[in-house]
Amino acid sequence: MANRIPHWMDGAVRAGTSGRTSPVFNPASGKQSGEVDLASASEVAAAVASAKAAFKAWRSASLSKRSAVLFAFRQLLLDGADELAQIITAEHGKVLADAHGEIARGLENVEFACGVPQLLKGGFSEQAATGVDVYSIRQPLGVVAGITPFNFPAMVPLWMCANAIACGNAFVLKPSEKDPSAALWLARKWRQAGLPDGVFTVVQGDKQAVDALLTDPDVKAVSFVGSTPIAGYIYETATRHGKRVQALGGAKNHMVVLPDADIDLAADAAVSAAYGAAGERCMAVAVAVAVGDAGDRLVDAIAARLPELKVGDGAEPDTDMGPLITAEHRDRVASYIAAGERSGARVVVDGRTADVPAEGFFLGTTLLDHVRPDMSVWHDEIFGPVLSVVRADTYEDALDLINAHEYANGTAIFTRDGGAARQFQFDVEVGMVGINVPIPVPVAYYSFGGWKASLFGDMHMYGPEGINFYTRGKVVTSRWPDPATSTVDLGFPRTR
Ligand code: NAD
Repeated sequence: MANRIPHWMDGAVRAGTSGRTSPVFNPASGKQSGEVDLASASEVAAAVASAKAAFKAWRSASLSKRSAVLFAFRQLLLDGADELAQIITAEHGKVLADAHGEIARGLENVEFACGVPQLLKGGFSEQAATGVDVYSIRQPLGVVAGITPFNFPAMVPLWMCANAIACGNAFVLKPSEKDPSAALWLARKWRQAGLPDGVFTVVQGDKQAVDALLTDPDVKAVSFVGSTPIAGYIYETATRHGKRVQALGGAKNHMVVLPDADIDLAADAAVSAAYGAAGERCMAVAVAVAVGDAGDRLVDAIAARLPELKVGDGAEPDTDMGPLITAEHRDRVASYIAAGERSGARVVVDGRTADVPAEGFFLGTTLLDHVRPDMSVWHDEIFGPVLSVVRADTYEDALDLINAHEYANGTAIFTRDGGAARQFQFDVEVGMVGINVPIPVPVAYYSFGGWKASLFGDMHMYGPEGINFYTRGKVVTSRWPDPATSTVDLGFPRTR
């Protein structure tokens, strides 16, 4: 196989030595396009050791030096966006415009991290006691690891590495083995931006590499984004090994449509958010909850839009929706449609019989109506181009449905009633809420994270919580007394 996808260590590609590899496909052709190395535990240990050595100097780099590297990296990301988008589309399958969207949202995190001198400013209290000053500083943790999913091969690593590196850590990335090339592209750009070798490392791999990171005593923190069962495993294993962990899991995002909503606007939003990236987004709308008489109007409006969507190779400019990531995943999604049908959902539009390219991992768009909470299509994360519509009699029924779900990543409400929207924002037990916004991914200066089974740990990702995650607080109490006034005093120090 000509296209061997290696690791990145000490500022250069490093061929794998484990003898284990995994095939990488172009999902639009269904053909294998490369072969990625899978690291052994000893290769991971070498990567962590190289990162640990680099950390020593990087934590001492001045804030303005770090900021300068980030500004340079930002420019390289902007200049190279076309190239990176093509890499993403070739291995993930999403359309080029969507790949550009992912890069743009990742870029925001780099721009946020460019302001690291401001972000790391501590507090200072002069004269906390007589002649005593107290101040707080935040320091990096050391080697920190990021383990990322296939669905955002550039954005999710950028959520993590921009802040981790800005804070003075050395970052080891274990990308998804399904689309590993974007990580190497980022590594090259970090190097060009002037980042010292070893501060950004890529270990390609699977469970073996992940387990080695989770148990390595020199890895101080783990950021994970992926499915809930793995997120739970990562959280339990890494915390048991004394690490700080943020582990973001799966989702089942509900979009409530109240009867007063503009139905065309709501249908446009539902179609965009349900079928964009073939539904392989953790913030995709998976369930539309139509309240009262919104139901028939919404279903008709969504169904009318679906034949307009062109399903095909994401690299073609007029494609709206690309393929799924693997043949197995496509078949799993199709099996959910069958399960929904068997359990009584109405298949309004059936992606299994759609006119899609024969080669590649394609599935058409599916719309299921009259889905009920006892059906697997409601309960499980399908992660494909399937939108379920649940009918609810009242706002309260819609709210109860959402709050009953184990996942609580994102949600949205569509209405023209500001009071109802505000009540929803107050009541709903979900981490990220959109009001007439179907995919409410917070901007980079807020933080991203769901509730319940969508997040393990208590710190959300990127933004201010990301800065806290990648640093430890230290508080200094200082005085410069006149030695002539010094006495022995065994009492507990008081401030008054
Ligand atoms: P995944 O959980 O299968 O894989 C994620 C990472 O974990 C990959 O790097 C993979 O190599 C590794 N991994 C897989 N199995 C493992 C195991 N048994 N032990 C150790 N490591 C393992 O997820 P995926 O299929 O790549 O991505 C899709 C999932 O990610 C969906 O559930 C989606 O909702 C979720 N996701 C969540 C968010 C969020 O912000 N909450 C964002 C993006 C994706």
